Amino acid sequence: MNTGRMRELGEKRSVIRELFEYGNKRKAEIGVENVFDFSIGNPSIPAPKELSEEICRLLSEENPLSVHGYTSAPGDLSARKAVAENLNERFGTNFGAENLYLTCGAAASLTISLSAVVEEGEEVIIFAPYFPEYTVFIETAGGKPVSVPCKWPDFQMDFEKLSEVLNEKTAAVIINSPNNPSGAVFSEDSIKKLSSILSEAEEKFGRKIYLISDEPYRELVYGKTEVPFVTKYYNDTIICYSWSKSLSLPGERIGYILVSPENPDWKAIYSGICGAGRALGFVCAPSLFQKIIPKCVNMTSDFSVYEKNRDLLYNSLAEMGFEAVKPEGAFYLFLKSPEPDAKAFSEKAKKYEILIVPSDDFGTEGFARISYCVPTEQIERSLQSFKKLAEEYSL
Ligand code: PLP
Repeated sequence: MNTGRMRELGEKRSVIRELFEYGNKRKAEIGVENVFDFSIGNPSIPAPKELSEEICRLLSEENPLSVHGYTSAPGDLSARKAVAENLNERFGTNFGAENLYLTCGAAASLTISLSAVVEEGEEVIIFAPYFPEYTVFIETAGGKPVSVPCKWPDFQMDFEKLSEVLNEKTAAVIINSPNNPSGAVFSEDSIKKLSSILSEAEEKFGRKIYLISDEPYRELVYGKTEVPFVTKYYNDTIICYSWSKSLSLPGERIGYILVSPENPDWKAIYSGICGAGRALGFVCAPSLFQKIIPKCVNMTSDFSVYEKNRDLLYNSLAEMGFEAVKPEGAFYLFLKSPEPDAKAFSEKAKKYEILIVPSDDFGTEGFARISYCVPTEQIERSLQSFKKLAEEYSL
């Protein structure tokens, strides 16, 4: 392990965290209600009531040695079975407990999966804008991130550019739909096209290219938007899921990896996942939440607030003259910066106590991310300030 790199990662906070900490300081100085903090993707809707009740029941009625005890390394069999059955019901798939590995959230799912399929020096393609931690996770697994820009104004994948960068060193492609930070959702046609390009590339380069689908926002879509289930289109798929957003449990660290059984080599890949989980110290996901999952696998938090926030924010900002794509999913709005330098835009927003994340760390220049997983009143109160910001740019 490169100790210098680890120190550097520890010392250099992410831009999101930096802004979040600044927001906390500012809130202490001028009052929470006067800071419009849109920096972080922490759900603002509580977990379903039934979930909280189940936690209380487990703690008061079940044997504490079992509730808090170790489970088997890939997770309790009954929890994995419940997840497999739920997916089969929803997507007409044919998964079993043996295809699933429970993890401490999507971040662990990604680091484990990358370690399982990427050899030192191999390349992993990511579509920009992307979740900034991807580059950290890929490099830690010994890989090299290769960024492919999505198309403006819809933030869909650019297949021409993808084809240009695929080569004999490509080990994996990560997709994230619904997307953080753009809010875009990849359509069924896009997933079909992606699958056919990757299958051709596997043939051409005589190797496996894994499609790692990072899906913490899978259920968080608006209107009639649907998120295609990727294993149906591409056999060499690994799904990285987490309940952080769908059940508003980001601090509890619970998610899974699914290795598609359509892949003829799935058993070897699954062994690699178990091995990587072991090597990275990610065995036995939090036991209490493994017990919660069978009860709550069918539920989500009440997303209606996010939809209301999206409409209010998007419509108001569009009226003021700002440019953005209307998000179809997740809880982020990717706003076009009125000047080329997104950092300068974000700094100007700070003058009006608006905290939005400049897009450079998402691998794209000239935008800012607004996390609208906040109380609706915060958005209402912030509109005056956004108006002043728009005026500063003469929009
Ligand atoms: N992937 C994406 C796209 C995310 O937005 C996040 C968290 O915000 C993660 C992964 C990490 O999720 P978790 O908190 O479940 O580890």
